[in-house]
Amino acid sequence: MVWLVSAGARAAGDDRPKAANCSFGFTSYADAVALLETLAAGRPDLARVETLGTTVEGRAIVGLRISDHAGTNEAEPEARIIGAIHGNECMAYEVALGIARTLVEDYGADPTATAVVDELETLVVPMANPDGSVASTRGNARDVDLNRNFPFMWVEGVSSGLPASEPETRALRDDGLRHPYVAGISYHTASNYVNLVWNYTPVAPRHEAELRALFEPYAAGTSYEVVLGWHWYSVYGEYTDHNYGTRGTLDTIIEIQSDYGRTTQLGLHVPRAIAMLAAARQGLEGRVTDAVTGAPLRAVVWVAERLAPVYTEPELGDFHAVLVPGTYAVSVWAPGHRPATRSGVVVPAVGREHLDVALEPGGSDFGFAVTAVRLPREIRDDRYANTSVPTDALGPPDGRAYNLEPGGEISIDLAVEVADHEGAELRVHAGPAGPTDTADVEAATAIDGPWTPLGSLVGTTEIDLGASGTAALRFVRIADTSGGRFGSAGAGYDLDSVEVLPPPAADADADADAGDDDGGGDIEDVGDAEPDAAADADGGEDVPADAPTDESLEDTGGGDGDAVSDAPGEAGEATDGGEVDGGGGGSGCGCNAGGAAPGAWAWPWFPAAAAFAAASFRRRRT
Ligand SMILES: [Zn+2]
Repeated sequence: MVWLVSAGARAAGDDRPKAANCSFGFTSYADAVALLETLAAGRPDLARVETLGTTVEGRAIVGLRISDHAGTNEAEPEARIIGAIHGNECMAYEVALGIARTLVEDYGADPTATAVVDELETLVVPMANPDGSVASTRGNARDVDLNRNFPFMWVEGVSSGLPASEPETRALRDDGLRHPYVAGISYHTASNYVNLVWNYTPVAPRHEAELRALFEPYAAGTSYEVVLGWHWYSVYGEYTDHNYGTRGTLDTIIEIQSDYGRTTQLGLHVPRAIAMLAAARQGLEGRVTDAVTGAPLRAVVWVAERLAPVYTEPELGDFHAVLVPGTYAVSVWAPGHRPATRSGVVVPAVGREHLDVALEPGGSDFGFAVTAVRLPREIRDDRYANTSVPTDALGPPDGRAYNLEPGGEISIDLAVEVADHEGAELRVHAGPAGPTDTADVEAATAIDGPWTPLGSLVGTTEIDLGASGTAALRFVRIADTSGGRFGSAGAGYDLDSVEVLPPPAADADADADAGDDDGGGDIEDVGDAEPDAAADADGGEDVPADAPTDESLEDTGGGDGDAVSDAPGEAGEATDGGEVDGGGGGSGCGCNAGGAAPGAWAWPWFPAAAAFAAASFRRRRT
């Protein structure tokens, strides 16, 4: 191949050259839909046809969701495989169709396919761009390149359309918001790469170990080369970057070498894809529930050693994180609830650790998920050293921040509707690197707007909705106005956290009420919040006072016996604030007391964040 993996050759690399015409010898759109319907009709226990959305020309975007007990939502990891987001990459949808067919038809006969069907919920969308496949065009019916139309790291003049402007893009995005996929594949042609994220930046993904564990066997089995995407060529507004960057999905582009030789390509790719799905069972799983009601929660789970979120599936509260074997610290938080952190979580060499979490109501709300990011320009320099990622702006203030770059913009879902009340409703926290950076803030109640201006930020700034006449919001959009040179240290707003502030008077009442509900155990938290904040952060010596929190994080894995040895002071726990912290620091935020340091909340949340924060910008050029 002529594609050279070096910075100098990147611009030449693309999967753009195509000879194939999907009209000749390839499965038609109508036949592809019919095949999925036939598979579902033959095994209704294993497969259901779903329509994700409708294309520009009115065609259904159809997928097959495959799992045992099809149609029943089970607490299983979910995965998604798509083909031909570039419509004329015909072999991409042939392979995806082959995966769907093999999972259903080989169930009970092939042990790997059977395990995948039994233990995962897999959605296969063979034709992600039906209009393009029917017309044998790369783009959709409006000639938009859908693989440059996703709202994550969208760049004006480089990406395609406007962010999420196309119905096909929104269909895939919205399905991903409903289903927290742990892993996925986006099939393209024609080259021979297993192309890992990131595609927008030369910086390595924080889950590189997990991505390699999932996809290096695939590459070895096909004799393909593994690349971190940007180092082949950069893409902005790309599907797999979007899914990893906003949802934590370990999603990967696979470039099938040829649009011809279907039997050969199916034989090469289908078994490797199914083996990858089987490997995605490795890691950590559990359920997040409300400690009072037992209801499943929409929650975010952070592994401190990766510092990228995964999300629960809200209907059952189950979460799944692919992790290589090791020992991790895990923090869990849900809107309206206090976070819980547990260190010493051991992911075994084979299989999963199970960790259930019951969160106490109360605490403060913060940015929950990233929904869109605009980058002001392409990253062309392989020495680019802004190692922050947008999800660094989520959660409580912790000293880690996402640097927007000059003119950059981020949209964040607070996951709760914030209504206007007396005083400020939001506090936007600037990171330590940018105390005087400036930005503009807008609000929306829906993911794609419309957006209403809320005001401007100078460093850490409180925002009063009433000042702009805004009644309510769920999404905030923050755009840098501080200028400076792209990629240079100190330029661009450093966004640490977006915090939701309760009404001034209702704050204390709410916390006290929560304490009453818990039998009074949390009332002390309110009273001693400020003095204890630092102790929680440093040593957690007062953790034993939080008796209810002993129950807030239960290890039901059964393998390691941690659940019965949570006594603070146990060897090895002294440095991280206690193995279990149900978020006593939550009321220790002092966010409305005006005195406590904003960062005090963080350390029970991310026991391992300090070292990471110190390292995150060390490679920045000056
Ligand atoms: Zn392509």
